Amino acid sequence: MGTRKPYQLVSREWKQEDTTFVVNGVTIGKDLMMIAGPCAVENREQIFTISEFLAKKNIKFLRGGAYKPRTSPYSFQGLKTEGLELLREAADKYGLAVVSEIMSTDKIEELVTYADILQVGTRNMQNYPLLKALGKCGKPVLLKRGMGSTIEEWLLAAEYIVSGGNERVILCERGIRTFETATRNTIDIAAIPLIKHLSHLPIISDPSQGTGIRDIVSPVSNAAIAAGADGLIIEVHNQPNEALSDGDQSLYLDQLGDLLPQLSAQAKLRNKRFDFETAILISSLS
Ligand code: PEP
Ligand code: MN
Repeated sequence: MGTRKPYQLVSREWKQEDTTFVVNGVTIGKDLMMIAGPCAVENREQIFTISEFLAKKNIKFLRGGAYKPRTSPYSFQGLKTEGLELLREAADKYGLAVVSEIMSTDKIEELVTYADILQVGTRNMQNYPLLKALGKCGKPVLLKRGMGSTIEEWLLAAEYIVSGGNERVILCERGIRTFETATRNTIDIAAIPLIKHLSHLPIISDPSQGTGIRDIVSPVSNAAIAAGADGLIIEVHNQPNEALSDGDQSLYLDQLGDLLPQLSAQAKLRNKRFDFETAILISSLS
């Protein structure tokens, strides 16, 4: 039984209804999925301060790299196991789910014990042994688009995971390389509605890696939701100017706070649940 597209199981032709699944009370693919946190876990104070803020805003997903794929071998490479332990401890204290990057097959066993969702970074989108192994990992996978990859290659990467037995894949548009250097990457907003047309998988947007510029993360976040994204992954830091990675694109906590009512209003228009108002009530009680 073939379809005309080179990918099959991930295609809308194969399965008409949206794929949805629940993680930490959020129905991914239906509700608005908000993931926020630092680029990298750096220390206890950082991750606990940020986690407390997220919990107060009713954000249910904490991101943070413990194994970081850095362009330079001399850049901070992440706290590794210690970083994962800190993420888990903070997430458990504040009722959050953990999203963290998996770089190689030999770390899957460790990642699945600490993280709730495994992130495949742009540099690994075509790491086929890794994609195959993630088909059997038993946890949802957040699959970033390769910075030099077409939409078809990206969907074929997702097909590796789904055909391996794991249908819980979330696509993430994070920008591609173009001639433009004024932004870190060129975020492909058009990919969002196009993916919705081509595939039943949820798709979110990463306006942080997508722009590289703190002050344009909020408008681009709004654009992604308006284009039909099922959520966002946003870098935020309690002290962006001191961040060990991606400080320039990390929001101040207050900036994330200011963005949420806008996203909440948009979510309502799109019939996507995002209980930001509920969080205000809860946090005002404590
Ligand atoms: C990140 O999320 O910090 C990251 C490294 O993302 P990407 O793989 O999209 O560059
Ligand atoms: Mn980053």
